[in-house]
Amino acid sequence: MAEVQMGETETFAFQAEINQLLSLIINTFYSNKEIFLRELISNSSDALDKIRFESLTDKSKLDAQPELFIRLVPDKVNKTLTIIDSGIGMTKADLVNNLGTIARSGTKEFMEALQAGADVSMIGQFGVGFYSAYLVAEKVIVTSKHNDDEQYIWESQAGGSFTVTLDPNGEQLGRGTKITLYLKEDQMEYLEERRIKDLVKKHSEFISYPIYLWSEKTTEKEVSDDEDEEAKKEEEGDVEEVDEEKETKSKKKKVKEVSHEWELINKQKPIWLRKPEEITKDEYASFYKSLTNDWEEHLAVKHFSVEGQLEFKAILFVPKRAPFDLFDTRKKMNNIKLYVRRVFIMDNCEELIPDYLGFVKGVVDSDDLPLNISRETLQQNKILKVIRKNLVKKCIEMFTEISENKEDYGKFYEAFSKNLKLGIHEDSQNRTKIADLLRYHSTKSGDDVTSLKDYVTRMKEGQKDIFYITGESKKAVENSPFLERLKKKGYEVLFMVDAIDEYAVGQLKEYDGKKLVSATKEGLTLDDETEEEKKQKEEKKKSFENLCKTIKDILGDKVEKVLVSDRIVDSPCCLVTGEYGWTANMERIMKAQALRDSSMGSYMSSKKTMEINPDNGIMEELRKRAEVDKNDKSIKDLVLLLFETSLLNSGFSLDDPNTFATRIHRMLKLGLSIDEDEAGGEESDMPALEEDANEESKMEEVD
Ligand code: ADP
Repeated sequence: MAEVQMGETETFAFQAEINQLLSLIINTFYSNKEIFLRELISNSSDALDKIRFESLTDKSKLDAQPELFIRLVPDKVNKTLTIIDSGIGMTKADLVNNLGTIARSGTKEFMEALQAGADVSMIGQFGVGFYSAYLVAEKVIVTSKHNDDEQYIWESQAGGSFTVTLDPNGEQLGRGTKITLYLKEDQMEYLEERRIKDLVKKHSEFISYPIYLWSEKTTEKEVSDDEDEEAKKEEEGDVEEVDEEKETKSKKKKVKEVSHEWELINKQKPIWLRKPEEITKDEYASFYKSLTNDWEEHLAVKHFSVEGQLEFKAILFVPKRAPFDLFDTRKKMNNIKLYVRRVFIMDNCEELIPDYLGFVKGVVDSDDLPLNISRETLQQNKILKVIRKNLVKKCIEMFTEISENKEDYGKFYEAFSKNLKLGIHEDSQNRTKIADLLRYHSTKSGDDVTSLKDYVTRMKEGQKDIFYITGESKKAVENSPFLERLKKKGYEVLFMVDAIDEYAVGQLKEYDGKKLVSATKEGLTLDDETEEEKKQKEEKKKSFENLCKTIKDILGDKVEKVLVSDRIVDSPCCLVTGEYGWTANMERIMKAQALRDSSMGSYMSSKKTMEINPDNGIMEELRKRAEVDKNDKSIKDLVLLLFETSLLNSGFSLDDPNTFATRIHRMLKLGLSIDEDEAGGEESDMPALEEDANEESKMEEVD
């Protein structure tokens, strides 16, 4: 090669968060430093995956270096450990961006986790594994060659900056990346072959590329004394005297000869090709960890093969926790690795598993897909569709198995119930099966939760529907006025207090042939009365018709209509939403999400119906007063107050809490017999409450 000038060295500052991370890595004591090797090998493996994938459609991409490998070179003289891979390599821009100037979303999260006491071994999960090199190294040099660029050298001793230099004269890699770690004085253990081999076995056993260790081989050789003398002179130190033979006459000696060779240190065949019954739990666990970078074991595993017209093998895992970015839509799912006949194809194949199962991790190895499959053809691929269907089925089976152990299922449900509910919403084919996995607190479950199946076994004779109530929290719904009648009749009501429940139940509609009925929506009928009771009720209803009209006049557009209720026993009234309108809970969610467009909002949220309780003392009193004079001013104030109070305890929010507060204050004054003027009186546009002998007793009831 013609002499090319070494490029100019450019200096770059580490991005602020990365810099912070580096300080944290360097200055904090961690006992688990060994994980750096796993991180670097895993990066190499990813880089190899990338070039292998590119080469499937363009073989020439491998020309510069046809072999795919990872090599480890400990060098005791220079105190360096070097990791070389023939992966995709990095261009100059990649080196600058990926290793220092562009922070990953996980950088900050990882630091926060560390400060909260997380283990440094979690680094890989946060996408900043490279920097773990500084756990053991004081200086790191990365030499890299990408097909699209020249070879460059990245170098840094942390401390705020790194340099990048063109490298035309150094030993050329062809393609790939070489990372040289200048080990800290107290980290020399990572130069020991035994230690490196153990580490690879422990953390990188399932890497699907050969990992070679540049290892020392000592062979014994017989040499004659004379030769030996010469050898000694020539290479002092390297040849060592072992055993002087007793019969000095023969003048022969055995000497150790040291040589180096590449030793393959990962020999396992892929775990998914082995028989499940021959694989131990620990083996699955370490495979899971190497696959996901998780520091904890999996919660559940399903290892299976499908045979027949279509053949594939798969291992699926459920993690113990949800990742920190489970619902981060910017993040591409890359939890299932797709292989075709042992060759890694890709780990972000969206067609392989539906979104709601995005938390399931694993591998799929197909015998039928073509090797050179492209992303575009994947979308229409029939084989892939069948694989996907099977994966979903197996996932649900796996979840059902987890549900047999209460403690495990508790963990699972806490982490992934949102995914199941998303599944109810999205996956119409498996909706019924997923519904079996749902768990809710209920009026009868106590501290436990119940499945829909168990609910059904407890249904009262004559009960046709499954009742539920949605709301912000268990606390907010368990004493809701909507539940009064249902509770009194002994009907169980499920508490759906997760924002997504509202969507899920909207899709589910029924379970086991029984309708799911919201306790807060209009049209809740409990037809279990005798003819006599019905008749009495009708009459009562009639007597309240006028009051209903009066209330509707006072409330105007605030409510759609005012009816006599069937469902409340104690409270004076409640607010109900139409069968197709939003429940209070949904209105709260939508307001919080600012997701609605305003026209839809007003349409959907305008459908409130006020239901009044004819057996309640306040209503009875109001009815009487309205008969006498429906323009009685106290009626207006009381009705407004009742309306606002029911907004609150039906789970809606107040548009104007100030007016509500003023109204309450005036009622309090009235209750305490304080004259509006005497008290210095707040300005108010509200009509004054009429003084009335009955007022005080009424106040008590309102309270
Ligand atoms: P992660 O690997 O989780 O993305 P890292 O901090 O370990 O995060 O690495 C940052 C990026 O640097 C990688 O995404 C990759 O683009 C690049 N990189 C690291 N090591 C290598 C390597 N051996 N070969 C090619 N690219 C690499």
